[in-house]
Amino acid sequence: MKRNEQLSNLNTTTEWDAIIIGGGASGLGAAVDASTRGYKTLLLEAHDFAKATSSRATKLLHGGVRYLAQGDIALVKEALRERGLLERNASHLAKKQVFVIPNYKWIDGPFYTIGLKFYDMLSKKLSLGKSRHINKQKTLEMLPTVEPKSLCGGVIYYDGQFDDSRLAVNLAQTAVENGGTVINYMKVIGLLKNDAGQICGVKAKDLINGNEYEIKGKAVFNATGVFTNEILNMNDPNHKKTVVPSQGIHLVLDKSFLPGDNALMIPKTSDGRVLFAVPWHNRLVVGTTDVLVEKPSLEPRALEKEIEFVLATAGQYLTKKPTRKDVLSIFAGQRPLAAPDKDGGSTKEVSRSHKILVSDSGLMSIIGGKWTTFRQMAEDFIDKAIELGKLPSKECKTVNLSIHGNVPASQVDRSKHNYIYGSDIPAIQKLEQENPDLAQKIHPNHNYTKAEIVWAVKEEMAEKVEDILARRVRLLFIDARAAIDCAEEVARIMAKELGHDADWVAKETEEFKTLAKGYLLVNY
Ligand SMILES: Cc1cc2nc3c(=O)[nH]c(=O)nc-3n(C[C@H](O)[C@H](O)[C@H](O)COP(=O)(O)OP(=O)(O)OC[C@H]3O[C@@H](n4cnc5c(N)ncnc54)[C@H](O)[C@@H]3O)c2cc1C
Repeated sequence: MKRNEQLSNLNTTTEWDAIIIGGGASGLGAAVDASTRGYKTLLLEAHDFAKATSSRATKLLHGGVRYLAQGDIALVKEALRERGLLERNASHLAKKQVFVIPNYKWIDGPFYTIGLKFYDMLSKKLSLGKSRHINKQKTLEMLPTVEPKSLCGGVIYYDGQFDDSRLAVNLAQTAVENGGTVINYMKVIGLLKNDAGQICGVKAKDLINGNEYEIKGKAVFNATGVFTNEILNMNDPNHKKTVVPSQGIHLVLDKSFLPGDNALMIPKTSDGRVLFAVPWHNRLVVGTTDVLVEKPSLEPRALEKEIEFVLATAGQYLTKKPTRKDVLSIFAGQRPLAAPDKDGGSTKEVSRSHKILVSDSGLMSIIGGKWTTFRQMAEDFIDKAIELGKLPSKECKTVNLSIHGNVPASQVDRSKHNYIYGSDIPAIQKLEQENPDLAQKIHPNHNYTKAEIVWAVKEEMAEKVEDILARRVRLLFIDARAAIDCAEEVARIMAKELGHDADWVAKETEEFKTLAKGYLLVNY
């Protein structure tokens, strides 16, 4: 997947079938769906793939125990099915995760066991395992650092876990392998309309070289998440606000706060929400929150009250109490929630199911949803274009579609840091064998090698240091200080591959360091 090759497709295609705006979970899913159906597909992403919300999830593939409690059975059923499909279609990334709910009141044992049995039932043959009640001793074995005082037992259940931005890159590759074109750093700056006022394409600007394009297309899909309103504004400056951003944060801690492979789930925090502490890439991700914010942001920052809440709640359930100085990285994301029809109400009441809106001009926008359901969302999105007569009818092909990198689950060795590359592992190892310098680590405390940087530039369209350290390897998200330490080295390796000079290295390094400081809670 090379950017210049993708760009050259713009000059050779006069009209696309499907133009998708936005390269997060929703847009990339749509690009895979449309390209595999055989439509001439173009996806334009203003920054890097998954730069916004789609790299900032809790990394769970879940039906949503919380939505079950809210009675949203249809959403839970859909998500459980999609969870199961992804375990098959991207085995290198999606895995089964054991969760334990510690019980501090005896009634919680039977209450959560019954609820989770129902959760298992809804997933039918795609179930990942049977939920069950466990006694206090077993709970302490499974969660060695859970607060033992007043603990009466626990409930085990199973859900899925994945690497969000890695899946995004693999979806982009899958779209390209099926004939689609995907371009990052290409911002849509306007919409083209025909004499009848119908959308017939987009205006876009290449943010790397400044070139502008007018691109024609039969169907235009707006998949810009929390930025949906901006595209709707281009279509009609008087449109109703349709998306409300709701922020959630995560703190990343050392594994010593919860050793082992099991995750802790706190089903009812002091503000009535859910908090997870989940092992991920050998660290512990703790979150999240749910706070309505005024404006969408590409780099949202945690609010003080969110930080205090996560630290205090984790501290209440863990024997080792985390403090600000223990935080290896902090990241915030914004959920693109469908605005409630009436004002008011809290964000936890806003449905997480997706909606597709069609403007009078024929612009289609998808809002809401979650990573887990991206495939179904994409299918519905493309089906909508068929229903509107914008695309000829063709069947969806993604239910059993293997996503780039997929290998049989039995071949995935999660004890190695590079398991996420799946079927690409041999090619990266070959780079290391051909040039032993590329087998060197980029940071002494982490296993990422220089070959992974070269690979990301050559094959995964990484253009900036941030693309590598935040989304191709996840160093910024698991250890922001280490990411700062190796930024210059990464910039130098990239510059060699991309033909950039020393000024680029200096500018990129500084830019990345400034960004990375926002992922730290104490100065560095
Ligand atoms: C804190 C948090 C935790 C979550 N945890 C989970 C979880 O564990 N499991 C789960 O299933 N879901 C989870 N979600 C939900 C999930 O992450 C989101 O539903 C999903 O990532 C949204 O993807 P998207 O493509 O709609 O939006 P985004 O990822 O935001 O993508 C939109 C893209 O559009 C681009 N764009 C904007 N304007 C333009 C333009 N003019 N031209 C071109 N491109 C443009 C942006 O740069 C961006 O990349 C979580 C969400 C949050 C906030």
